Amino acid sequence: LGGCISNALRKLNNSSVIDKKELGKCLNEITHALRDADVNFEFINRHINNIKNNINFDHLSEGLNKRKIIEQAVFNELCSLLNSEKPSFTPRKGKPSIVMFVGLQGSGKTTTCTKYARHHKKNGWNPALICADTFRAGAFDQLKQNATKAKIPLYGSYTELDPVKVAVEGVERLKKEVYDLIIIDTSGRHKQEASLFEEMRQLEQATKPDVVIFVMDSSIGQSAFDQAQAFKQSVDVGAVIITKLDGHAKGGGALSAVAATDSPVIFIGTGEHMDDFEEFNTQSFVLRLLGMSDLPGFMKKINGVVISKDEKSKQAQDLSKGKFTFRMMYEQLQNILNMGPMSPLLSMLPGFKSDFMPKTKEKDAQAKIKRYMTILDSMTNKELDCKKDMCKSRIMRVARGVGLQVKEVTKLLEEYKRLAKMFSKVKTLNTPHMLKRMGGLQ
Ligand code: GDP
Ligand code: MG
Repeated sequence: LGGCISNALRKLNNSSVIDKKELGKCLNEITHALRDADVNFEFINRHINNIKNNINFDHLSEGLNKRKIIEQAVFNELCSLLNSEKPSFTPRKGKPSIVMFVGLQGSGKTTTCTKYARHHKKNGWNPALICADTFRAGAFDQLKQNATKAKIPLYGSYTELDPVKVAVEGVERLKKEVYDLIIIDTSGRHKQEASLFEEMRQLEQATKPDVVIFVMDSSIGQSAFDQAQAFKQSVDVGAVIITKLDGHAKGGGALSAVAATDSPVIFIGTGEHMDDFEEFNTQSFVLRLLGMSDLPGFMKKINGVVISKDEKSKQAQDLSKGKFTFRMMYEQLQNILNMGPMSPLLSMLPGFKSDFMPKTKEKDAQAKIKRYMTILDSMTNKELDCKKDMCKSRIMRVARGVGLQVKEVTKLLEEYKRLAKMFSKVKTLNTPHMLKRMGGLQ
């Protein structure tokens, strides 16, 4: 199944004419691939429609890479689905936070609790665990074994059968000590049973956790939405962790979990070992979902349209130094060409408001952008990085070299100055937002 979507897109690349019918076929294949990755049916239908509506073929001029635009639209839609509006919970340091884990039996709660504790310990927190699973025999011993291995203190009882009592006593005790992250492991059931949800409700009421984390096995298939929703209806789930992504599951259930709980995925489990635990990264997760394993390759292909974390921070750094270079301008122009009328940057260029742009005007815009890029192409590296000014003689040389009038080059320089000024103003206001707009990120 892997690569179904890449295959669909590759086929698209090979067909020379891409019209509505061709797009329909392509989106159909993407629909199947997403189903195979356990993405919820209804979801797919709704969002494939979004993708369809976001691509307006009448607005695309010739010469644009349409496959890239579709690829980008699918990628963006899935990323935005996974980016929950709610910010992810981060415990404070030095002041106790209480975190309660919930999930069905076997979902990976006990394992994940310890991974979560260990991760935070490595990052300067002082975590402790509570075993509130009094339902399953051996639960305390299992957590004890894990906790000992990870050197995390543990509170629990072999004899007390009331989970609420154990949890409340544990929280009281640990709060008095030095711990700033108190993690409660709870029991599960094999099925979504009323008794489990009642127990979770009581535990939540008694311990008042700062966040409830829903742990979900990635291999449960289409039942993900229902399961996540059932937990959300009982307790105030605020974050999701998806486990067993080292297996065959592609993890489409994550989309369902986010939708059903209205909460972000914060970590993923990628193995049984304590260190098989990663912070959730939307972009690489979506690439996996799409069957595109080639992360650097894909990122390069849609370079500029989607900026990787590293590049983003580098650009942010450059921008925060107020350094908007010709090279960056070039990259952004390339973006506009890649994205066509969808490009958010287009509307920042005078006279090119992207809404309702008539086809002739759009052609003009494209020609102008291409002209600019030709001029930029013939500038030296030092000039591109703004380490050397463009003097009069250089301007004339460049104009002659690309067969354009001097005033065209001067116009580009003016345009650059205008953009640079805008960026130097914007950087103090809201650089990340600006970068998002520039990069077309969600
Ligand atoms: P609980 O019943 O929710 O507490 O689940 P457990 O933590 O006991 O985990 C159930 C099984 O899943 C155990 O055998 C774990 O080792 C295994 N497990 C948990 N997380 C992962 C994971 O990310 N990858 C793999 N391969 N196995 C996992
Ligand atoms: Mg357990």
